[in-house]
Amino acid sequence: METMKKTIILLFALCWIIGPKNHNLFAASEKFELKTSEATLTIDQKGNLKVVQNKGQIVQINASINNLWKITLKNNLNNKEYQFAPDKNFTIEKSGNVFRLIVSTFSAENKTLPVKAEFTISVKADAFCFSGSLKSDSGEWIFKELEYPCLPGIFSNNKNISIYWPQGLGTCFNDPEVFGSRSLWYPSAMGGAMQWFSVNSPDAGIYIGSHDPSQATKVLNLSFTKPDKAFTASITSPIYGNDFQIPDMMVKSYIGKWYNASKYYRGWYDKNFKTFRSADWVIDDSGWLLAILKQQNMEVMWPYKDIDKLCDIADQFNLSTIGLFGWAVGGHDHLYPNYPPDNLMGGRIELKKAIERAHKRGIKIILYANGKIMDTSTDYYLYNGIETIVLKGNKQPDIQYYIKQKNSTPVIFAQACTGSEVWRRTMFDLGLQAVSLGADGILYDQLGVMLPELCFSNNHDHHPGESDSRYRLQMIHEISQKMKEINPGFIVMTEATNDAIIREIDYFHGWGLGTAEAQNAFPELYRYTFPELLATQRNPNPMITRTEANFAAIYGFRHEIESRYPGDVEYLLHGTLPTAGSYANVAGPPSLLSQMSLVPAEEATKYVHLLIEFEKLNQDFFRHGKFIDQEGIEITGSNVVAKAFLNGNRVGVVVWNKNEGARNEFSVSVPGYQLKNATEPGKEKVDASSPLNANTVRLFVFEKNSL
Ligand SMILES: [Zn+2]
Repeated sequence: METMKKTIILLFALCWIIGPKNHNLFAASEKFELKTSEATLTIDQKGNLKVVQNKGQIVQINASINNLWKITLKNNLNNKEYQFAPDKNFTIEKSGNVFRLIVSTFSAENKTLPVKAEFTISVKADAFCFSGSLKSDSGEWIFKELEYPCLPGIFSNNKNISIYWPQGLGTCFNDPEVFGSRSLWYPSAMGGAMQWFSVNSPDAGIYIGSHDPSQATKVLNLSFTKPDKAFTASITSPIYGNDFQIPDMMVKSYIGKWYNASKYYRGWYDKNFKTFRSADWVIDDSGWLLAILKQQNMEVMWPYKDIDKLCDIADQFNLSTIGLFGWAVGGHDHLYPNYPPDNLMGGRIELKKAIERAHKRGIKIILYANGKIMDTSTDYYLYNGIETIVLKGNKQPDIQYYIKQKNSTPVIFAQACTGSEVWRRTMFDLGLQAVSLGADGILYDQLGVMLPELCFSNNHDHHPGESDSRYRLQMIHEISQKMKEINPGFIVMTEATNDAIIREIDYFHGWGLGTAEAQNAFPELYRYTFPELLATQRNPNPMITRTEANFAAIYGFRHEIESRYPGDVEYLLHGTLPTAGSYANVAGPPSLLSQMSLVPAEEATKYVHLLIEFEKLNQDFFRHGKFIDQEGIEITGSNVVAKAFLNGNRVGVVVWNKNEGARNEFSVSVPGYQLKNATEPGKEKVDASSPLNANTVRLFVFEKNSL
């Protein structure tokens, strides 16, 4: 690290000597200025870059063009890397409303490199747009990465700050110190599911987002520094190439709540991507029962003929879909990507017949496949691995271990790259198999979850150093299109969502922040931006608590029950409460006994059934309504949550009293709308003004006043 610092200092010194000197950028009285409807950006003669909001004169950004960017160049011959920052090695041009910063002096290894960079600042779509291009005319020197724009001094004189950060389905931090310093790799649910974030004071905000229609991998950075009580933001683009067109990095000042930032991003998204809609049956789906038929240690819990019993259980909960995991020879998380039906569990014919019987009962069946990993013990890895795996920068595989039982040897997987045509074909064939077995869909696990790992393989469709994220979309598209030709109702699922794949995935298995209650989780962020999202809650238990069921309902998530271990099977079949011993050999997180012991299985099941019935009765909102969070809704009361769904001239507001033990007074209204009725699960009519019972949801239907 110390050596790196010295190198950078030395480079700056060289640049100072070689580069043109721009001590004063403009004449003394002159400054560069750009305006949007809400803010002004100025660059003064010292290079100070400020964004000031028009109303209230709030300084939203206090930066400098003297540290606006960082470039890392790599010498391909000796693999050495050099970092560059502006210092004084640039010239500027102002033409019309474009501020241009041109850098033509890059020196390293005692020579001037044939490398140029140009950065522009302009106004686009009522925001400040930071763009530009990088070019290296040398085969020897490539751009490794660019960090730009680097914007310190964000909200330096405001106190009440909320940070909206797109990890998982979203997070919200009201304490900048708790937020600290964070980075997210986009696109992935494990990292950033969208390429924007916002920092808000109570009535104004600043939006920072990449408007890159290629949705290429990038890193969103935001950190809070205590001394100046300000944030520093930047976006890092991995490049590994000679040319780079910097996508529009947008900085937008706005008045009001975070909804405005979300709408701004969605407005851009809609201009660049087609509209999308899932299959009708998914929109009306109530949720799924996920069952691992055979575990990693080859223990069979549900042979194919017992799919009938799974249908019985799904019916008890009012769930209309079953996801079969561990349904093939190797069991769960073993022998991927080999998924032949298992003769031990009944064989192919038995499986097909069981699926047909499920269909007769109106239950859909989804088959599991993993879209991202292969078991290294398979012939597939041995013979196809070099063509299909992600190769990291050191040309080694990306290895993951999965272990389900403490007394088993961990199974070793290598990450596959969807940039490999061979891998995409393998996944395609699994789709065809699922169709031929009569399934209603296939779930390719991990496509939405996994970080966009940079892959340096020379065998893939991407260039070395690019992640496979855009090929994940391509793979899903190729499979979905073909399978829907054969069976129009056939769907493609994956675990976890992000906005690079949402338009090709029909149904998401919930994963990560926001799919269950968690500190700082703020699923409103993604749900509001992408109200089309169809996802299950994440509930890795054979029962759903009343709290988790209500949580899912107010966000419009579909419900989930999981059967993963023998203790779960006993509970689901007979209502037998497992003991800690039931999960003693489980290596991962066991089912939560504390939750399962809250109420008898029958009672818990009944509530989920009743709640889903309530959602079906009010499908105009829970299934077909557009999630609008609390926009335009007025709610008072403590520990009550209200979420609204818009449908035509009506708004359904679902209010949840989160108190576990006490009734709660509250009020809800929608200005410009009139209350039509109020209902609760199992109660067709309730007094709208009566207090809400503990841990209870109530739906208020409002209709727009006629003019
Ligand atoms: Zn690759």
